[in-house]
Amino acid sequence: MQVEFYRHALGEEEIASVTRTLRSTFLTAAGRTRQFEEAFADWLGLPRAVGLYSCTSALVLGLRALGVQPGDEVITTPMTFIATANAIIEAGGVPVFADVEPATGLLDPAAVAAAVTPRTVGILPVHLYGQMCDMVALGELARRHGLFVLEDAAHCVEGQRDGVGPGQVGDGACFSFYATKNLCSGEGGALATRHPWLAERLLRLRSHGMDKAAGDRHSGQYRHWDMVELGYKANMFDIQAALLLPQLPRLLERLAAREAICRHYEAALTGVPGLALPVTVPGGRHARHLFTLWAPRPLRDPLLAELNRQGVGCAVNYRAITGLTYYRERFGFIHGRFPVAEEIGDRTLSLPLWVGLPREQQEHVIRVVRNFLEAHPG
Ligand SMILES: *Cc1c(COP(=O)(O)O)cnc(C)c1O
Repeated sequence: MQVEFYRHALGEEEIASVTRTLRSTFLTAAGRTRQFEEAFADWLGLPRAVGLYSCTSALVLGLRALGVQPGDEVITTPMTFIATANAIIEAGGVPVFADVEPATGLLDPAAVAAAVTPRTVGILPVHLYGQMCDMVALGELARRHGLFVLEDAAHCVEGQRDGVGPGQVGDGACFSFYATKNLCSGEGGALATRHPWLAERLLRLRSHGMDKAAGDRHSGQYRHWDMVELGYKANMFDIQAALLLPQLPRLLERLAAREAICRHYEAALTGVPGLALPVTVPGGRHARHLFTLWAPRPLRDPLLAELNRQGVGCAVNYRAITGLTYYRERFGFIHGRFPVAEEIGDRTLSLPLWVGLPREQQEHVIRVVRNFLEAHPG
């Protein structure tokens, strides 16, 4: 049996939407992009969202818009995709890592507090796997030290915790619409914010620092535009927006389908020897982007190989960034500096999770994991 790690759920509605957009005049950031920005901000309960080429560009430009200067320190987690930390360097800052909570893998507010120095300007938490960080604690910490908070919400469009969603405590939240994300257009991203000034700054930064949006340059009466700061080219364009728009009304229905699969995995894998599952904090809403288990440390790679041998697609999200060659060499990290993230990084394995994953394929995945771990006790 073959079980794919991920399949998108795009269908006829998205095809029709793209086709309609292809018949329009300007395929760049024009009407459909603005329509998506408004609908997405509404969905999140935030005043503004700015469509970007990727979450990476949202992170880099968001950090720049929040004023990161060369040498400024931004505190983040080692348990994330490299884009998070790379963006800090790309924006001219210095990534400072703080360890994660053992139960959830989320950035630990106590470790963040211990990492604050006079050079710290901001915190970049990641809502890992789709579960939100403790934004109440991080928000208070940020206020106390006068720091900004930019949230990496690449896994977490639908998440909530303590009554808040992404971007409602932080200064901005960055989203990814990459091929495997819950809301996807192959490539794409957005920054949503409660600050209108930040959205306006992003609109400029995504388009070379020009004072007029690219779409407006070609419509109606020609007007000279000016360049007021150094920006980049990172706007969303209308074909991406056309793919995303029909998905918004279905986000919660799709989340419910992934939630059911996760509950099935959880029920079937609880109590398997040596296996731990990340804790879901009660009272919140987990966006269920990834279903991750933590295998016994020496068995993660053999279990991964066995799953692959049995036709199951898997991923590792993630090995701790601080152990990757570039970060190790550039910052001189030694093994043991971030023990919790390192341990999770050595144990973690993500199972197939997508809307429509057939029940018998879920059973196959569960059987392979159980059989392997029962045959290889600790
Ligand atoms: C996917 C991802 C990103 C990068 O998103 P892109 O849209 O591919 O740039 C950033 N952070 C995390 C946690 C991600 O999973």
